[in-house]
Amino acid sequence: MRKPNYLNSSNLFYSEYSLCYMCLKRNFPTRKHYSKINNINCFICKGIFCKIDEIVQKMFELIHFQENYSYRSFTIGTTLPYYMFDIEDSIRSHYKLKGIENIKSSFNFIIRNKFKSLSRKKLNITNPDIKINLFISDNSDYSIKILSRSLYLLGRYNKKKFMAQREKNFLKNNPDIDYNSFTSKNQTIQTTIQKTISNCIRSDRMVFSWYGSEDNNSQVLGKGRLFLVQLINPRQRKIKINKIFTDNGMSFKIIEKKDFLENVKRNFRVKNKIFIKTSDPINKIHFFNLMKLNNTIIRYRYKSKIFYKKIYNIGFKKLDAYHLIINIECDGGLFLRQFIEGRNFIKPNISLTLHNQCECLKFDILDISLS
Ligand SMILES: [Zn+2]
Repeated sequence: MRKPNYLNSSNLFYSEYSLCYMCLKRNFPTRKHYSKINNINCFICKGIFCKIDEIVQKMFELIHFQENYSYRSFTIGTTLPYYMFDIEDSIRSHYKLKGIENIKSSFNFIIRNKFKSLSRKKLNITNPDIKINLFISDNSDYSIKILSRSLYLLGRYNKKKFMAQREKNFLKNNPDIDYNSFTSKNQTIQTTIQKTISNCIRSDRMVFSWYGSEDNNSQVLGKGRLFLVQLINPRQRKIKINKIFTDNGMSFKIIEKKDFLENVKRNFRVKNKIFIKTSDPINKIHFFNLMKLNNTIIRYRYKSKIFYKKIYNIGFKKLDAYHLIINIECDGGLFLRQFIEGRNFIKPNISLTLHNQCECLKFDILDISLS
C-alpha cells in the first residue's frame, strides 16, 4: 500500500517551525521553544489549538443561552480526524519519541480547563450532568453536540373516568381521522402527563414505564398508580416533588426524582379487584381451592424467559352462581387476564385451580406499593 502523501519522507516536515507551539511543546517537552508560535498551518493539528478559545465561547453560548441547560458538572469529549494521529505517530517514530501524551488528551485537557474557568462548573469525567461532544472534521471545521444525563421521575396518578394509558396505533391505522378532534376526545394519561412535565422541564423525549398493567376500562383507586418517566436530554433538572397536577379528569404528582436508574425502586406489589364469570356454577370446594393460592408462586413464560410472581393474599366474594370478585395482592407485572383464564402456560392459574373455566370481565387497581 502506498503511504499517503503527508507521510512521504520528502513531504515530511523536519523543521520545528512547521508545528504550532502546543504541538512542539507536547512532542519535544525537553527542548526550549522560544516563542508562542500560533501556526495555523501546523503540520499535525492544522491549527485547531489556535481555535480553542473560539470553540469554548461557542460551547458556552450554546449551553447557557441557546439551549439553557441547568447543570452542575460537565465533561468534553473530542473526535479528531485520523490523519492527525497518523502524522503525530510518524513524527514520533522518526524522532524516536516515546511515552508522550497524544494530541487528543492534550487537546481535551486544555479545552476542558478553559471551559471550566469560563462556566465555573465542575469537571466530572465519569458522571457529568452534561456531555459536550466536539467533532473536528478533516478540514478543521467543527460541530458541537450536547447531551445531558437522563432524569428519572417516579410519579403516581389517579383517574376517575375511563381513559387509555397510551394512544396505541389508533391514529396510524386511521389516517382519515382529524388529529385535533381525535386528541381532544381521546387524550390519554401519557399525553396529559407529558404535556404537564414538558411545561416544567424541556427534554428531547420522554419514555414511560407503567407499574402494573391496566385495561382501558380499569379504574385506579387508592393512592394511585405508579409510573416512571425517563427524560432524555433534559435541559433542567428541577421539579416540585409532591405537587399535585390536575388536568383532564386525572391528577398526578411526582414523588421521587433520581439521577440514575439504579437508584429507582423497580419492585412493587399490586392490590387488584377482579370481576370474574365462571362457566360452571360456583360451589364451596371452589373457594377452598382458591385459598390454596395464598402465598404461592406463579410461574409463566414470556418472550422465552421464565418469570416468577408471588401471591401474597387472595380473598373472594360470590356475587351469584356464575359471578365472583377476587381481591388479590401480588407482585407487579403478573398478567391478570392470563392468570384468571389460564392462558399462555401460567401455572398455577385460577381456572385450573377451580377446575372451572373463568373469564376476567374487568379489574380495578386498588393500590400499588413499592416493595
Ligand atoms: Zn499544532
